[in-house]
Amino acid sequence: MHNGLPQNTKISLVDQELPCKNPSCKNKAVSLSAFCWEHTADKIRYVESLRKFLNEGGSGERFILRKIVLRNSELIRTDLKNSDLTQADFKDTNFSYSDLSGANLIGCNLEDCDLTSVNLENSDLTRAVLKKARLWHADLSRANITEADITEADLWKCRMHLVRLWHTELKGVKSLTKQNFAKKGYGPLSQEKIDESGVLSAEESYRTLKQYFIESGRGREASWASFKEKTMEKLWLRKNKNPAYLPMALMGLLSGYGEKPNRVILSSAAIIFIYSIIYHSLNSITSTYSAVKAHSFWDYIYYSIVTFTTLGYGDLIPKANIGYRLLAGSEAFIGAFMIGLFVFTLSRKYSAR
Ligand SMILES: [Zn+2]
Repeated sequence: MHNGLPQNTKISLVDQELPCKNPSCKNKAVSLSAFCWEHTADKIRYVESLRKFLNEGGSGERFILRKIVLRNSELIRTDLKNSDLTQADFKDTNFSYSDLSGANLIGCNLEDCDLTSVNLENSDLTRAVLKKARLWHADLSRANITEADITEADLWKCRMHLVRLWHTELKGVKSLTKQNFAKKGYGPLSQEKIDESGVLSAEESYRTLKQYFIESGRGREASWASFKEKTMEKLWLRKNKNPAYLPMALMGLLSGYGEKPNRVILSSAAIIFIYSIIYHSLNSITSTYSAVKAHSFWDYIYYSIVTFTTLGYGDLIPKANIGYRLLAGSEAFIGAFMIGLFVFTLSRKYSAR
C-alpha cells in the first residue's frame, strides 16, 4: 500500500462487484459509483471526484472504469493496478510514474498521453491507441499490444521484453531499437525477444520489426529481427515435421540464416578440422614429391585446407582409391559452398539492404 490508505482498497473491491443500478442495464457499475458510465447522470461530477480520489493517493487497484472519458487529466503516480479500463478515453492525460500493471486497456484511447516511467507490465493493450504517446522508461514487459496503434509514439528506453506484438502499427515510431526488447538488468546477455508463445505470430511480428528497422536504415537491428524471424520459421517447420526443416536448420547452424558471418568462419574451421580427423584416421593421403609414408596431423590439416578452398596444390593427394577421392571431392564441394555463403552473409550483414 504505497498510499497508506488500505481501507480505500477495500471499498473499491466491494464496489467492483456491483451491477449498474439502472434496471434495464446489465453492465457493472464503475468504481465509486452505482451506475455504469453510460448511465452516470452527472459525468462531470463523477470524473471530478474520481480524479480527486486518485490524486489524493486513493488506490484504484482493480477499479472498474470501463468506457469512462477522462481526457486531459493529471494522473501522476496513480495506482490503477489490475484495473479494468476497457475502451476508456484518456486522450492527453499525464500518467507519469503511475502503476497500470496488469490493467485491462483493451481499445483504450491513450493518444498523446504522457506515459513516462509508467508500469504497464502484463497489461492488455489490444487495439489500444497509443498514437504520439510518450513512453520513456515505461515498462511494457509481457504486455499485449496486438493490433495497437503506436504510430509516432516515443519508445525511448521503454522496456518491451516478451511483449506480444502482432499487427501492431509501427509507422513513425521513435527510439525503437533492439535494446527495447532486452530483459531487465542482463547487460550483454540480455536475450532480446518478444513473446514467442505463438510461433507463427512471433514470426510475423519479427518480420514487421525487420521492415521497420530496414525502413529506418538500421541494418544491424534488421539483421537481428531477420535472424529471429527465420528462427521462428525453423521452429514452425520442426513442429509440423516439414522436410524443409533440415536445410533450414543447417543454414541456421552454418550461417545464422545468412545473418552471422562469424558462424560461417567457425563452421568452416570445424568442417576443415573434422575432415582432417577423417583423413588421418583413414590414412588416406600420399605425397607426390617424397617417399615419406608417415604424415603428421598438421599435414592432414594442411591437406584439408587446400582441399576445402579448392586450391589443390597437388603436393599431397588422396591415395588411388575411389572412396578417398570422393571424400576429398565432398570437402571441396562443401568448401566452395561455404565460401559463397560467407560472401553472401558478409554482404548481407554490412550492406545497407
Ligand atoms: Zn448501466
